[in-house]
Amino acid sequence: MFDFKRTQTRKHLNTQTLRITTSFYAPPTAIREGAYVVLPEQEAAHAVRVLRKRPGDEIVVVDGEGGWYRVRLDQIDRSQAAGEILETRREVGEPGYDLSIGLALLNNRNRFETFLEKAVELGVREVLPLMTHRTARAPFKRERGRKILLAAMKQCGRSRLVRLAEPQPLANVLHDTSADLAFIGHERTAPEHNLAVALAGQPSFHTIRILIGPEGGFTEDELAEAGQAGYAPVSLGPRRLRAETAALVAASTVMITRSH
Ligand code: SAH
Repeated sequence: MFDFKRTQTRKHLNTQTLRITTSFYAPPTAIREGAYVVLPEQEAAHAVRVLRKRPGDEIVVVDGEGGWYRVRLDQIDRSQAAGEILETRREVGEPGYDLSIGLALLNNRNRFETFLEKAVELGVREVLPLMTHRTARAPFKRERGRKILLAAMKQCGRSRLVRLAEPQPLANVLHDTSADLAFIGHERTAPEHNLAVALAGQPSFHTIRILIGPEGGFTEDELAEAGQAGYAPVSLGPRRLRAETAALVAASTVMITRSH
């Protein structure tokens, strides 16, 4: 049997991860580098009324642009909280690669939003909502999406807010060929041509983009256009996955392959 206790020696523990508690968000304009942070009203209310923070308590604040601050609260009242910066770091919780996932808008907005939350945890940097041939008049609420991304960033210990683009036609995305690696998930690709195998031969990429189709899949024409634009078709396993599952498998595969 797997001996869990024996493998948990100190060197296996990632103490940085273990110390993470939910952080607070403040935009860069609310931060005086090396000096002071004033929490936005909503965050302050949460800190004071829900978490009952008191003067002298330490919290972590992230600015959504890679800034991470350990802060000691000093001014607190019902709707305000501010404190002194004790320590500053950059890019805490951020992956060493830049993963952009293009996911077709889905008929079921909940499924797309579930993807958004999990994408943050799995280290995605950018989400491109795609309009494809088989995308129905799918609902999309950008502000709601942004809130989900923000909450997930604070929860999982990242310091950068995932970029959420406006929905755009697939063709626009295909024109942009700047990524080091580009793939398109296609369920009829032979399972041996999977993303993990493709990445194993490419250890040192920085930017990577992966496209995932809608419930009805990409059309043959779309797959052909993507191929011409340099997107290699990949399998994400032997079963037909729901679109949001496929997108999450793609993100997990990149994350585990790169291990940071
Ligand atoms: N065309 C299919 C289902 C599409 S699944 C049908 O209706 O029968 C939605 C999207 O998820 C696909 O466009 C593809 O990008 C991705 N996908 C699902 N399963 C996959 C797999 N096993 N390998 C690669 N991509 C997959």
